[in-house]
Amino acid sequence: MRKVPEYFGSLVFDDRTMRATLSADVYASLRKTIDEGSALDITVANAVAQAMKDWAISLGATHFTHWFQPLTGITAEKHDSFISPSPDGSVIMEFSGKELIKGEPDASSFPSGGLRATFEARGYTAWDPTSYAFIKGKTLCIPTAFCSYGGHALDKKTPLLRSMEVLSREALRILRLFGNDSAKRVVSSVGPEQEYFLVTREMYEKRPDLRFTGRTLFGAKPPKGQELDDHYFGVIKPGVAAFMEDLNEELWKLGILAKTEHNEVAPAQHELAPIYTTTNIATDHNQLTMEIMQRVAAKHGLVCLLHEKPFEGVNGSGKHNNWSIATDSGQNLLSPGDTPYENAQFLLFLCAVIKAVDDYQDLLRLSVATAGNDHRLGANEAPPAVISMFLGDELNAVLEAIETDTPYKGVEKMQMKLGVDVLPKFNRDTTDRNRTSPFAFTGNKFEFRMLGSSNSIACANIMLNSAVAESLRIYADRLEKAEDFETALHEMIKKTIKDHKRIIFNGNGYDDAWIKEATEERGLLNYPTTADCMPHILDEKNVKMLTSLGVFSIDELYSRRDIMLENYCKSIQIEANTMIDMARAQIAPAIEAYTADVAKAAAAKKAVSPALKCAYETGLVETLSGLIDEIAEKTDALEDAMAKVQTAADIVEESAIIRDALLPAMTALRAPADKAEALTARSYWPYPTYADLLFGVR
Ligand code: ADP
Ligand code: MG
Repeated sequence: MRKVPEYFGSLVFDDRTMRATLSADVYASLRKTIDEGSALDITVANAVAQAMKDWAISLGATHFTHWFQPLTGITAEKHDSFISPSPDGSVIMEFSGKELIKGEPDASSFPSGGLRATFEARGYTAWDPTSYAFIKGKTLCIPTAFCSYGGHALDKKTPLLRSMEVLSREALRILRLFGNDSAKRVVSSVGPEQEYFLVTREMYEKRPDLRFTGRTLFGAKPPKGQELDDHYFGVIKPGVAAFMEDLNEELWKLGILAKTEHNEVAPAQHELAPIYTTTNIATDHNQLTMEIMQRVAAKHGLVCLLHEKPFEGVNGSGKHNNWSIATDSGQNLLSPGDTPYENAQFLLFLCAVIKAVDDYQDLLRLSVATAGNDHRLGANEAPPAVISMFLGDELNAVLEAIETDTPYKGVEKMQMKLGVDVLPKFNRDTTDRNRTSPFAFTGNKFEFRMLGSSNSIACANIMLNSAVAESLRIYADRLEKAEDFETALHEMIKKTIKDHKRIIFNGNGYDDAWIKEATEERGLLNYPTTADCMPHILDEKNVKMLTSLGVFSIDELYSRRDIMLENYCKSIQIEANTMIDMARAQIAPAIEAYTADVAKAAAAKKAVSPALKCAYETGLVETLSGLIDEIAEKTDALEDAMAKVQTAADIVEESAIIRDALLPAMTALRAPADKAEALTARSYWPYPTYADLLFGVR
C-alpha cells in the first residue's frame, strides 16, 4: 500500500511540481504572481501552460477545463480536449498560455440575475493562479473566476478574492501603525468543518423526495432517533469507515488536508474537518470535498446527503467556518500575544471583528440563507437566526475592565489604559466552549457556526472579510490622524466596546428567553427565513460598505439578491410539487389499499362469525379513511397555494408568498401523511421509513 506522503497532492500542480517542471525564471515570476498578485506575462503563461499540460498528460489527462463557481452554488466546468490536428492526419496535444489564462464558456445558462441582459451577452473565466490546478478524472481543472465582459462578477470567487484583498489592505494599515513594516500581506484563513449524512443508494432510489429535493418531505418518527446520543463520536461502522478511508485518499491526492472525521449527533450523520488554509483555497477545497463525497459514496453503494435538514426531528447538517487572519509571515492577528503591546494590537483586531459582526449582522445572516438552512437556524439544534458573539470569560473581563476604566482582576493598581506597558498579559482562552453561539471566539480564531452543510463558504467569508475590513478602515482613518496614538487607541477600543457590547452574549443561544432579550432589549436583528433577510442586502448601509470597498458593484448586489431569492423560491416549489405527486400517486393509494384490505378482513371475519365486533378493524378503517380525506384536502390546498405563488409581481413578493402560504401548506399536508404512515402496515408503505434510512448503513 502506498504511504500518504507519497501520494498526497499527487494530482495537484502545486509548488513542488511547479519547481520541478518550470525553469527558474518562469517559476520565479509565477511565484511573484501568486504571492503578490502581480500581472502574468504571456510568455510566462505559455511556459506554465506547456509544463502543466505535459504534467497532466503524464497522469492520463486528455482534457482541460476552467473550473468555476457560478452563483448556483455548485461548481461548473466545460471540458476541452488538448488535441489539435496535424497536417498528416494525426493529432498533437496542445495547450497555450492564452487558454490557461482565459476561457469563454457559453455562459447563457448560468444565472446572472439580469446582469448579462443589462450589460453583456457573454462572460469569460480567468485563471486564479493563487489556487493550484488539479486533475479530476481525465481532466486538468484550472480554478478560475467568472466575469461578464463588463467586468461584473458572475461567480462567488471574484468577490471573495476582492474581499481578501481589501481586508489585507486595511489590516496592513493597522499593522504599520503598530510599527510592523515587514508584513506584505494579511491573509484570511478558514477551516470548514463539514457535516453530512450517508444513506444506502437502494433506499435513496425509492424516495422521490430525496432524489428530487435532497430531503425527506414525509416520514413518521422512528422508534429510535438520536435520544440516546450514542452516535456522537461513537464507533464508526465498517461500511462508513470504508467510505471515509476512500474519501481521505481521494482528497489527499488532491492536496486537501482532510484531518478529522467522526460520527455526529444524529444517526447516519458524520463530519469531516480539514486543516485550515487560505480562504479562497479552502473554498475551492470545500467545493471539491462536497463533490468527491458524493462520488465516493456512489462507489460504496451509498448516497451522501448534503442537505441541511434531510430528516425532520433529527439534527440537521451545518458547516462551521473557523476563520482567522494572519500576516504573510504567519503571525495570527487574533491570537493574544506575549507582551502587552502585542495584546493592544490583538484587542484592536478583536474589536474590529466585534464591530463588524454587530454592524453587519444582516449581511452575515443572509450570507448563509438558503431554503435548506432555514430549517436549522433557530430549531434548537443549530444557532438561532439571531447573530451574537461568544468571547469567553477572560476576554469578557478584559473588555469590561477597559470599558469601565477599572482594574483588571488580580493585577495591582492597574488602570486598563492601553499603553504599551500597562496592559496585562492574559491567556488564550480555549477551554470555555459555547456550542450554542453563532459566532464564537475559540482561542485564536472565530468559529462562525451558522453555515448550512451545502452552502459554499465563499458567501459567508465575503461578508466577514468585508465587514472586518470596513472596521479596520474606520480605525486606520482615525489612528493615522491621531496626535497621540496610544490615547486614541485606548479611546477607540473603549468606544467599540461601549457601542457594540450588545452583540456579545455568553449564555445559551438555544434558549427562547435569549431571542426575546436579543430582539426586545438589545435590538439585535432576527430574520428567521431567507425571504426575510435577503432583501436587506440592498439596505443603504450595506450597499455603501460593499460598494465603497469595491467588493460588489450595485448591479452585482441586485443580481445576487435576485438569484438567491430565485433559488429559494425554486427549491421550495420543487418540494411542493414533489409532495403533491407523492401524496396523490403513492401515499393516498397505499393507505387506501391497506384500509380496503383491513375492511375486507373485517368483513371476512364477520362472515365466519357474525357476532364479532371487529373493533380494531373498524377503528382503523375509520381513522385511516379520515386521514385519506385530510390528505386529499391538504393536497388540494397545497395546489391552491402553488397557484397563489404564480400571482406574485416580483421575486421579493414571490418569496414572501412562499414563506407565508406555501411552506405552511406543505407542513399541513405532511401531518396526516405521517400519522397514516405510523398506522399502515409496513408492507403497504411505498417508501423506506426513517428507521430504514437512518440505520440502514452497516
Ligand atoms: P472543533 O471546533 O471541533 O473543536 P478544532 O478547534 O480543532 O475543532 O478545529 C476546527 C477547525 O478549525 C479545523 O479545520 C482547524 O484546522 C481550524 N483551525 C484551527 N486553527 C485555525 C486558525 N487559526 N484559523 C482558521 N482555522 C483554524
Ligand atoms: Mg467546531
